Amino acid sequence: MNVTKIDEHIYMIDVEAGEVRNFIASYVLIGEKVALVETGPTSSIPNLLDGLEELNVKPEDVAYVAVSHIHLDHGGGVGKLVKHLPKAKVIVHQRGAPHLVNPEKLWQQSQLVLGEIAEIYGEPEPVPAERLIAASDGMTVDVGDGVSIRVVETLGHASHHLSYYAPFSNGVFTGDAAGIYLSEIGVIVPTTPPPFRLDIALASLDKLANLRPKTLYYTHFGKASDALEKLRFYAEQLKLWASIAKKAIENGDTIEAIGQKIVEGDKAVKKAEDYLKKHKVLSETTLKESVQGVVEYVKNLTS
Ligand SMILES: [Zn+2]
Repeated sequence: MNVTKIDEHIYMIDVEAGEVRNFIASYVLIGEKVALVETGPTSSIPNLLDGLEELNVKPEDVAYVAVSHIHLDHGGGVGKLVKHLPKAKVIVHQRGAPHLVNPEKLWQQSQLVLGEIAEIYGEPEPVPAERLIAASDGMTVDVGDGVSIRVVETLGHASHHLSYYAPFSNGVFTGDAAGIYLSEIGVIVPTTPPPFRLDIALASLDKLANLRPKTLYYTHFGKASDALEKLRFYAEQLKLWASIAKKAIENGDTIEAIGQKIVEGDKAVKKAEDYLKKHKVLSETTLKESVQGVVEYVKNLTS
């Protein structure tokens, strides 16, 4: 079990979904009460609970569980988790909330898109409606002792994506709004599955940059400094992908050929190519899905 103190009042638990390390983080914010940001999937909830025990967090002291969005790797485990946390309220975007109450469609869709990776993540369990807080932009959640987070609506990766700003550390919990940070090799790669919206994602990145954060807490994966630089880099990377995709589409390339051109044209992704290929989950998902999302976005613009 990997529990790390990463800032004053903030701990990170590597939930090791599918026994993959350094991939999905859950953050534990400890004030007078406790808030969690991200749960990881259903399959790794036992690991998350072990981590909370290691931190001596009493289940009844967890007041909030905030998820960035409902994709299985972020909020998939929240239904199973709250069974163990008698007082916790779940914070989620209003468009995500119905899918947490009734996750059947989400599960079917995930199986369709993710295939066997969905099985690694596990089926989401329903969250009782009375546990949910459908969050709106600017809402603040306070657990005392100076520890609070503010909801920042950051759509684009999904139509129901939230980030959370922590004024006490000047950091942002980015979910998937700022890409995937491969902390072991120091590389950012896009996470832009369909129905990705580039224009909205760029506006969200501006919104985060305007907070002037010092630190980013990536769900994938971990704490990173030079927040502004990383947010700007990601915006440029997304624009680069779209421009490569646009030219390749005009050229009549297949989706495979477009993906290859993106790998060759983006130095960061090129550097990450071997890492991604060896990764149990990312090899199956990120490049293929992300290329697909950008290609569909560009095609929709021109059709
Ligand atoms: Zn994700």
